Amino acid sequence: MRKKGFFNNSVGMLHRNLRDRILAFEHYGGPNYKCACCPESEFSFLTIDHKEGKGNSEREKLFGNKSVAGHHFYRKLRGLGFPDGYQVLCMNCQVGRRDNIDNVCPHKKKPLTASELLNEFDKLRVGDGNFDLTQTDTYKATLALVKRKGDAKPEEKARRNPNRTAES
Ligand SMILES: [Zn+2]
Ligand SMILES: [Zn+2]
Repeated sequence: MRKKGFFNNSVGMLHRNLRDRILAFEHYGGPNYKCACCPESEFSFLTIDHKEGKGNSEREKLFGNKSVAGHHFYRKLRGLGFPDGYQVLCMNCQVGRRDNIDNVCPHKKKPLTASELLNEFDKLRVGDGNFDLTQTDTYKATLALVKRKGDAKPEEKARRNPNRTAES
């Protein structure tokens, strides 16, 4: 028997997106999928996460675009036959990983306070901030170029809006 259609296309799309997401969860988490880090199993709280926290670069490599997200991401994963390296994770654990420089969820280690987290990132500072960078020829050349473009702006504005004076 033929399946009935949906009364409008956007509902049909939501249905298809949901189906793609379920397929991804089942592939990466098995039939009783849940968060790989904590006991969370509520469908709406679950997401697919790159195991090594390389979500962006992996998306770029696989899909040619690092900002592939949401239902596009699930459909691409399905289209590629579910490549390795992903896991089911809940939103909390995903954010918990992202805030930590070592990509480890606070569930899996001694949780850091906000200022301790900030400290971890501060440790990555090198030299005297970006001072060294600003002394390079490339930087100076780029800066000069940007400045020239900036100078040209008021005239361009005036050309586009002849009714307005240059004071704005
Ligand atoms: Zn979790
Ligand atoms: Zn966790």
